[in-house]
Amino acid sequence: MSKPVAKPWLTIIGGGLAGLSLCEALINQFQERLPGRVVIIERGQHCGNNQTYSFFAKRPPMALPYSKFSQWSFSAQGSSQQLLKKGFRFNYYRLRGDDVFAQLVSRINQHPQVELQLGMDAELAQLTSELVVDTRPCDADSMRVKQSFVGAEVEFPNNIDPNTARLMANMRMLDGCFTFDYIIPLSARTALVEVTQFAVEPASVAVLSGYLEQSLQGLGVTSKPLRHEQAVLPMGLTRQYAERLGSQQIRSATGYGYLETKAWARQTALAIMHQQPLNYFGQSARQRWFDGRLLRVIEQQPEQLPRVFMQMARRLSADDFARFMSQPRVLTLLKVMAAVPKRPFLRTFYD
Ligand SMILES: Cc1cc2nc3c(=O)[nH]c(=O)nc-3n(C[C@H](O)[C@H](O)[C@H](O)COP(=O)(O)OP(=O)(O)OC[C@H]3O[C@@H](n4cnc5c(N)ncnc54)[C@H](O)[C@@H]3O)c2cc1C
Repeated sequence: MSKPVAKPWLTIIGGGLAGLSLCEALINQFQERLPGRVVIIERGQHCGNNQTYSFFAKRPPMALPYSKFSQWSFSAQGSSQQLLKKGFRFNYYRLRGDDVFAQLVSRINQHPQVELQLGMDAELAQLTSELVVDTRPCDADSMRVKQSFVGAEVEFPNNIDPNTARLMANMRMLDGCFTFDYIIPLSARTALVEVTQFAVEPASVAVLSGYLEQSLQGLGVTSKPLRHEQAVLPMGLTRQYAERLGSQQIRSATGYGYLETKAWARQTALAIMHQQPLNYFGQSARQRWFDGRLLRVIEQQPEQLPRVFMQMARRLSADDFARFMSQPRVLTLLKVMAAVPKRPFLRTFYD
């Protein structure tokens, strides 16, 4: 007779970056011996994606292949000026989603107390564990502002500068929405080119694909895309997502989520270990306040955004800009407030 399987100690709903990173962080915290069985329920047939994850950091990611960019640039439509900034303490790093997930899945699959259940919808599963952490994404209605993008990995006709990430290129207003191109070199001739919009409403994929086509033409790219990626990501939520603790750990003012999700996973694993209550989000009040003002500008005065971001990029040092995007301290927020044009931000107090 087979031995009955013990009731799980923890169920993690969702085998995305948040769910798998939480499981990995728990294995690290408990030094391999978990208090009980962990079950990860993932609706898809496999974990992972072929997207890229990029972010500012002072040190390279551990144990993963990465690309490093020591310079980043900004430009606005109608101006021939391209602002080029060189980081000293910070670099911009890029990881392949396939590498990130391969490492996480391999660690998890080797652990005797963890079971990854693929092709399993949480709505249909019977959850019997003591603890449940739900990492399913929030719904579009709960996103305060949407960062919508459509991108393609493409081959350029000539060599491109492999050290420069073009973070916000050709900033412009299209159909009343703040729009920019994001161009990340992948090799001497290939790059990921994305057209991104920050807006209250999500952008249609067809419309963004049309803009991407125009941007690619402008860059002289005529080859067929090698790969596509697209998403609508939340910038700020309209309510506390108490029931989905792990979902969308994305910095509201920037749309970056990789390091934030990793940090959330570590904090949550620690809280579970010390039997503390699990909180949704660990942003400081100051950061929430400043991010809230920027979201207000996006909501109410999007036409100001090319000027806001260009001025911010021009007046801040490369490292301060990177710090603002990743782990702002009080001093960084003060420098950002001094750098941005005042009027749009003052208007958010009385509009
Ligand atoms: C295309 C793309 C590019 C990005 N690029 C960057 C970047 O360059 N830099 C950066 O910092 N951040 C980036 N982000 C943001 C950030 O990395 C993501 O927000 C983060 O990966 C989210 O992980 P998650 O686990 O919270 O959510 P998800 O990846 O959405 O995972 C949730 C999981 O839950 C599963 N699920 C949903 N419903 C159910 C159900 N009923 N039952 C069981 N399972 C279910 C889903 O299948 C999914 O696997 C990007 C995001 C995307 C989508």
